Amino acid sequence: MEQTGERGAVEGQMRAFPIHQDSPVEHRGDLPPETDVVVIGGGVIGVMTAWELATKGLRVALLEKGRIAGEQSSRNWGWIRAQGRDPAELPIVLEAQRMWQQIAATFGEDIGLRQGGVAYLARHAADLAGFEAWLPHARAVGLDTRLLTRAETEALIPAKAWHGALWTASDMKAEPWVAVPAMARAAVRAGVVIREACAVRGLDIAAGRIAGVISERGRIACSRVVLAGGAWSSLLLRRHGVRIPQLSVRATVAATAPVAEVFGGAATDDRLAFRRRSDGGYTLAPAAFHEFMIGPDAFRALGKYIPQLRKDASSTRFLPAAPAGYPDGWTTPRSWADDRPGPFEAMRILDPRPHAGKVQELRQLFEQTFPQAGPIRIEAAWAGMIDTMPDVVPIVDHVPALPGLTLATGMAGHGFGIGPGIGRVVARLVAGEDPGFDLRRFRFNRFSDGSPIDLGPHL
Ligand SMILES: Cc1cc2nc3c(=O)[nH]c(=O)nc-3n(C[C@H](O)[C@H](O)[C@H](O)COP(=O)(O)OP(=O)(O)OC[C@H]3O[C@@H](n4cnc5c(N)ncnc54)[C@H](O)[C@@H]3O)c2cc1C
Repeated sequence: MEQTGERGAVEGQMRAFPIHQDSPVEHRGDLPPETDVVVIGGGVIGVMTAWELATKGLRVALLEKGRIAGEQSSRNWGWIRAQGRDPAELPIVLEAQRMWQQIAATFGEDIGLRQGGVAYLARHAADLAGFEAWLPHARAVGLDTRLLTRAETEALIPAKAWHGALWTASDMKAEPWVAVPAMARAAVRAGVVIREACAVRGLDIAAGRIAGVISERGRIACSRVVLAGGAWSSLLLRRHGVRIPQLSVRATVAATAPVAEVFGGAATDDRLAFRRRSDGGYTLAPAAFHEFMIGPDAFRALGKYIPQLRKDASSTRFLPAAPAGYPDGWTTPRSWADDRPGPFEAMRILDPRPHAGKVQELRQLFEQTFPQAGPIRIEAAWAGMIDTMPDVVPIVDHVPALPGLTLATGMAGHGFGIGPGIGRVVARLVAGEDPGFDLRRFRFNRFSDGSPIDLGPHL
């Protein structure tokens, strides 16, 4: 069966919706009986890992249970930021930003990449001290981040709402539901076999190491597997006796119809996050609001999340249970047979319902902040499940208990921007090369070797 490696229908336009259940299947690559590497998951991490591996001359198959970028990778805000990130991530983010520019220049599609800058806006004068404390991390890597005065902030973003801002002019943005599918098409052109609507039910393990994967369309033999399953990674690992303290939160997003430009980049205060899209609308989101649905994994991992809860309890709304079929749902099976459909086929695309009240609030906040833009219309609203680790940085490492398996998950709210860089690092790990960056902060064992949970100085 043929794969479509050419440009898709999105060329020249930016659809104002993320990828969903009815989005067409684009990739139907024939599963090879044997390959060098199987990548599980077609989000930005899996796709960029696969692309990078293929450019090294390795044979790669990427299996995605739903659609390329159907989950977090098309549902995000589209910020590509170094500002506020963990110091251990910063060198990889900067590499990723260089890669984003190459992707925009060489992948042959307009992914909406712009260097529009990122601003954190201080609604209270006290916020500025927190912003200032992050500046040494920016300086350490030569980043152009600086504090703006009240007047400079108002000159940048015309509203009388803020005392000042933390501003990184070099930070970027791109259109998620355009960019990641474009990356997948580039991966196909580089030789990756991509199959959508094809869940991996389990890992094939022989003599204690990876021997292949079992998918709903059969087995692929391989000695190396990359798990980039986003919010589903821990469910697959648990089936093979490997535990990670991964949890997810629901985050609501809204897209306005095209409106007069008030600011061309991405910005947030403590209530409203907004980014100008290429189609002339704004992507809006609550700056500090997410919903956590309590399931069995939450109880197991609770102790490790106490530092995060202490730091940020007010922005989390707790719900007693996730809808059926969610990765940490009470009735979601934790074990299943290879020869029957499992939980990944039961939920092809995790498409949570957005918080309707918050969507209305976002519209009001934007109109109050920017009356000059006039009344705005919300064109679409959606939500995504953001997967995270207790210290808000990912796991990027080999899995010690399963030789041959490399894990890249827990990207939290910043995996889109850093995605190409993580893909590069993971590909190097898989190929047995020097990863080129210090990955100790992202090691697999940090949650089991007695290390304290280190939240780092991220903003
Ligand atoms: C609302 C929201 C706003 C965000 N804003 C930003 C932002 O502005 N900037 C930023 O940098 N980041 C942002 N993020 C975070 C970013 O989107 C994620 O960190 C990133 O997309 C994660 O990529 P991923 O490839 O790890 O996971 P995903 O994109 O979730 O992809 C994982 C894929 O694996 C597939 N899969 C899982 N299990 C299996 C299996 N067994 N077999 C086959 N396939 C499987 C899933 O179907 C899924 O498509 C945001 C996230 C959300 C939800």
